[in-house]
Amino acid sequence: MRIGIGIDVHAFGPGDSVVIAGVRVPYARGVVAHSDGDVALHALCDALLGAAGLGDIGMHFPDSDPKWKGADSRELTRHVMALLRARHYRVANADLTILAEAPRIGRHREAMRRSIAQLLGIGDDQVNIKATTTEGLGFIGRNEGLAAQAVVLLHAAGSEASG
Ligand SMILES: [Zn+2]
Repeated sequence: MRIGIGIDVHAFGPGDSVVIAGVRVPYARGVVAHSDGDVALHALCDALLGAAGLGDIGMHFPDSDPKWKGADSRELTRHVMALLRARHYRVANADLTILAEAPRIGRHREAMRRSIAQLLGIGDDQVNIKATTTEGLGFIGRNEGLAAQAVVLLHAAGSEASG
């Protein structure tokens, strides 16, 4: 088994929605980003890459590469999963925390969970999404941006003891 952690932050900017975990959430602002600025999937990709010992998202999808400009982060995640599958890793589970004062993600949580489960090729029950504010403290508390943290556990295909 191998464990990985990832964290990502994006500032709010002009726009009318925020993409979180591949789900577009209507909001009075968007995010400033080279790609679609999906904090959840960026944190998740870093956790996956970290667990596999494959570096980080910036190495694989550099901001300087126009190929990833405005990219759908689901494509980045699929690319990362292909790297892991080539090394015979599978995801045991993923646990994410979204840190934001707004938008509230409560009613989008199940859609986000399903979205991530599909991207990782695992069951919904192997994905957990939590949301929290920072009690008005810091840049998140001032509603200047949002952040996400992800933890994943990988196992080598064929080495799993149960289910
Ligand atoms: Zn990001």
